Amino acid sequence: MNFLFALFLALWPQPTEHLRHYTVYVDDSTLLPGQHEAIERAEKDWTDHISSLRFLPAASCEEATICIIGATDLPEPIAGVTQIERGRPGGFIQISVLLNLAFQVTATHEIGHAMGLEHGSEGSVMCRSLECASWTVTSADVDAWYAVRGWTRP
Ligand SMILES: [Zn+2]
Repeated sequence: MNFLFALFLALWPQPTEHLRHYTVYVDDSTLLPGQHEAIERAEKDWTDHISSLRFLPAASCEEATICIIGATDLPEPIAGVTQIERGRPGGFIQISVLLNLAFQVTATHEIGHAMGLEHGSEGSVMCRSLECASWTVTSADVDAWYAVRGWTRP
């Protein structure tokens, strides 16, 4: 089975995917034990590679820029889904990550979508399926993060 990552953009006029600081709410009620920590490791993987990037805790899904939810009902072969709704104050990005399946790398990948990245090359964490994706953030992913913002990588 070749599990895929999906990205859906709702076309509203307020972009949220070019920020460097994101507020994040993790819906623990939807997660299995240990998965909150896996999400924290996924965030740390990104911030370890991008010094100006911050993930700050939000008090609720409604107040968050990024809301992360564990999902059990994604249609196979989808491992994770990122939905970006533009138009709410502050923007809103909801990430659904399939429970039990390569959870951390799926979270890392979907957080990448939440920050504006599209699918990337073979061997990058943003590659389009679990079979071609790195399990950690790579230099190509960092390049893409800066490129989508129009910034020069330091
Ligand atoms: Zn994807």
